[in-house]
Amino acid sequence: MLSSQVVIIGAGAAGLMCAMSAAARGRSVLLLDHANKAGKKILMSGGGRCNFTNLYCEPGNFLSNNLHFCKSALARFTQWDFIALVAKHGVPYHEKKLGQLFCDHKSSDILGLLLDECEQIGVDLRLDTSVNTIERSEKGYRLNTSLGPVSCESLVIATGGLSIPTLGATGFGYQIARQFGHTLLPTRAGLVPFTLTDPQLKTLCTELSGTSVEDCRVSCNGQSFVENILFTHRGLSGPAILQISSYWQPGDTVSIDLLPHIDLPEWLQEQQRERPNSELKTLLGELFTKKMAGLLAEHWFASKPMKQYTPAELKAVAERLADWQLVPAGTEGYRTAEVTLGGIDTNEVSSKTMESLKSPGLYFVGEVLDVTGHLGGFNFQWAWASGYAAAQYV
Ligand SMILES: Cc1cc2nc3c(=O)[nH]c(=O)nc-3n(C[C@H](O)[C@H](O)[C@H](O)COP(=O)(O)OP(=O)(O)OC[C@H]3O[C@@H](n4cnc5c(N)ncnc54)[C@H](O)[C@@H]3O)c2cc1C
Repeated sequence: MLSSQVVIIGAGAAGLMCAMSAAARGRSVLLLDHANKAGKKILMSGGGRCNFTNLYCEPGNFLSNNLHFCKSALARFTQWDFIALVAKHGVPYHEKKLGQLFCDHKSSDILGLLLDECEQIGVDLRLDTSVNTIERSEKGYRLNTSLGPVSCESLVIATGGLSIPTLGATGFGYQIARQFGHTLLPTRAGLVPFTLTDPQLKTLCTELSGTSVEDCRVSCNGQSFVENILFTHRGLSGPAILQISSYWQPGDTVSIDLLPHIDLPEWLQEQQRERPNSELKTLLGELFTKKMAGLLAEHWFASKPMKQYTPAELKAVAERLADWQLVPAGTEGYRTAEVTLGGIDTNEVSSKTMESLKSPGLYFVGEVLDVTGHLGGFNFQWAWASGYAAAQYV
């Protein structure tokens, strides 16, 4: 029977960090994954350049039923700790915007450094390995795997969330949590594009598909993000939409200010005074692309020369552009979502050690827990920090 002090299931971001950090403490570590490659999401992330952390990472960048849970781990392994690791391996990186750090070259630089660390310190990584059953034993846990029986003192579940099943995502972590008496909070797709079914809205989005609008303010349920939006064939995407999708529930209205940096009522009055013969769509063409201005004028306003607008009509134009309200039909779901909201209730897990409060020796790290970051490198920072926290105690 294979035996190791620590067994970690899931060789993604959190599992790899936990493995290398536990092995650095002198623990024997067996890291299992059912996929044929470790860290597939790391490879896919950040458009192939892995947005591996954020300079401004704070607890306020995370959603959870228990907003305090993430604080301790984030404070003990910070963005600066991960940046130091990246620097140690000579991986070149840059800040794209808003504190988001990306690799200059490829995401494989980040996966490579984690695998190097694991290899150098003797982590036993086994891919293509499935775990069939887990049960408690006298000294810890006994697993029935495709490698045969495996025993360990500490068992770490790092199997991630449900997003992108084609990258190896499964509900296995939730199943194990349930088996050992944990409460699961409802899961749903986060950081995901919206779909629209309203025929008029859909036509507008389809016609504008591929067009992005910079720095819109998108709001829902008391949260706002100022970032780009992108029209797609099926609805809306882009960073501001992905961010707000994590705060959206079916049926909620989303409000979009297409021009948050302009005092629109004043701008429109000024245009009416100074360019009375210009058509509204021509003027909007100076703020948006010509195509978008034409389509907005066609769908939303009867475009005419500025002098023909009454004050009430101009007010309505300003309101529409600053507060475009829409109710998404849904999201693109786990097929394209970057993260899974909800998961294992953190009230039943120690925020210091990540150990289960229900079953000693069992640990949960990464996205499988009910902790979800904003877009911008925060989800990886949670994976690094929670993996590191557990590694100090396994
Ligand atoms: C397309 C995409 C782009 C992203 N880009 C970014 C980004 O740039 N920045 C950022 O911060 N976040 C990004 N994320 C989110 C980030 O990838 C995740 O939050 C992070 O990978 C979670 O780490 P984890 O270790 O908890 O889970 P994962 O990285 O998902 O790892 C889980 C591992 O468990 C394995 N596993 C699952 N089930 C089983 C099982 N039954 N048996 C054995 N093994 C199993 C999987 O094969 C996988 O290797 C992105 C996500 C996606 C989908």
